[in-house]
Amino acid sequence: MVADYKRRYEEVMAVIEDRASVSGRDISEISLMVVTKNHSLDEITEMSRQTGLTLLGENRVQEAEPKILSWKDSITPEWHLVGHLQRNKARKALEIFSMIQSLDSKRLADTLQRICHEKEISTEVLIEINTSGEESKHGVAPEETAVLVKHVLSECPDLELKGMMTVGPLKADEKGVRKSFASLRELRDRISSEQKISLPVLSMGMTGDFGWAIEEGSTLVRIGTGLLGERQY
Ligand SMILES: *Cc1c(COP(=O)(O)O)cnc(C)c1O
Repeated sequence: MVADYKRRYEEVMAVIEDRASVSGRDISEISLMVVTKNHSLDEITEMSRQTGLTLLGENRVQEAEPKILSWKDSITPEWHLVGHLQRNKARKALEIFSMIQSLDSKRLADTLQRICHEKEISTEVLIEINTSGEESKHGVAPEETAVLVKHVLSECPDLELKGMMTVGPLKADEKGVRKSFASLRELRDRISSEQKISLPVLSMGMTGDFGWAIEEGSTLVRIGTGLLGERQY
């Protein structure tokens, strides 16, 4: 039986519209990404056909590569990396993703810059921030973010810094989750005004918390389970 992705899409869109309207925001500011990890190419293709969604995210280079290279549908999706990137996978990542949402160190920035320069390409990046302080989380600490932003701006001309990304706390109530998202927005506001740059993208919110993320200013929600169903491991 083919899953009813359209119905799930409509449910997700209803939440996006509701939360946007509650917080006085225009839904045109909010992008909906489908996180496709642990789902097959057939499922992803069917979901995209039913919903028209073409902004897709993967966590790991090895898992993403065969999906991206064997994509057959006529509409070409835009793929972002949303998981931690090891430097020895940076070259491959630059071949298959249009945005790296998980830039989390100076060394990774330097590696990406060196490869971009060599290949005469550029890439869009978001800096991933660990806003919850959870040890298991990737991302730079909030207080280290300004240094990394300055480094990217001054030393990495082929990295187009578009904004920031975070994964909300897994074990927190509404208040705790919203505090984490609000802190990303405040950090973005402060750094963009200090550096006099625009950082329009705030990538935050997943299936369990995207409504709150929108109320806290998210411009890109990353939904896996809510659109594709439970992941099979
Ligand atoms: C898996 C994942 C998501 C999607 O998670 P769901 O809870 O299934 O919506 C979003 N962002 C990142 C970084 C992820 O790893």
